[in-house]
Amino acid sequence: MTRTVFITGAGRGIGLAVARAFAGAGDKVAAGYRTEPPPDGLFGVRCDVTDPDSIHEAIEQVEGQYGRIEVVVANAGITRDSLSPMMSDADFRDVLETNVLGAFRVAKLAIPGMLKARWGRIVFMSSVMGFLGSAGQTNYAASKSALLGLTRSLAWEMGSRNITVNAVVPGLIDTEMIKPITDKRRAELLSQTALGRIGTPDEVAAVVRFLAGAEAGYVTGAAIPVGGGLAMGL
Ligand code: NDP
Repeated sequence: MTRTVFITGAGRGIGLAVARAFAGAGDKVAAGYRTEPPPDGLFGVRCDVTDPDSIHEAIEQVEGQYGRIEVVVANAGITRDSLSPMMSDADFRDVLETNVLGAFRVAKLAIPGMLKARWGRIVFMSSVMGFLGSAGQTNYAASKSALLGLTRSLAWEMGSRNITVNAVVPGLIDTEMIKPITDKRRAELLSQTALGRIGTPDEVAAVVRFLAGAEAGYVTGAAIPVGGGLAMGL
């Protein structure tokens, strides 16, 4: 089954791995990017999730090229870390705007096509930090918990239309995003990770692909951990 798949934040990191995984399986992939287009001859579509017009244009471009979007992966995300007394409203707002409102907008604009098809898959990219909390990341952790409420509510709204909505919950994954983490914090997180190692973007991509596939037809409203055991049981 070849599907049209749209992934945000697919210029690098987890999003790029997800794009490659779907493309490798023969799907028609549109890799959304904000600054640098994706490598590899992937079909790149400019899409800034903080700009509704940009999302609208991106979706029109994808549907013009490949037809209705059947799978959407809202992956774009940012951090703006600092301890709460020092955190500006702007840093709090920017993280919520990108990570939550951006994800909501992308899903919302992809849904009409899925409703017509009476089939669809929506995957949000949460984080273990949304469960554990993290000093210096009140904004980020709040945004990633918010995605769980978004996932579950949308799963209720879309269930009768055969559209599943799930969240992937990565632990520590080897991308640009974790570069600023101190050695001490990294060691601390790894000591709480049953597998004792950092994960790879490909390991997250494999789970996203599963959730988007026919095999996951009865999985919705779920938060699937991909954290090597970090935050297990929460
Ligand atoms: P990266 O920083 O490597 O990638 C983030 C991507 O999001 C970049 O491509 C970036 O594009 C894009 N992006 C940021 N802001 C916007 C925007 N406004 N519009 C569109 N795209 C945007 O990090 P990861 O690959 O690790 O992160 C991917 C997702 O996984 C994020 O949601 C992150 O929170 C989540 N995650 C990551 C974990 C990890 O350990 N790495 C753990 C748990 C969750 P640009 O190049 O323009 O900046």
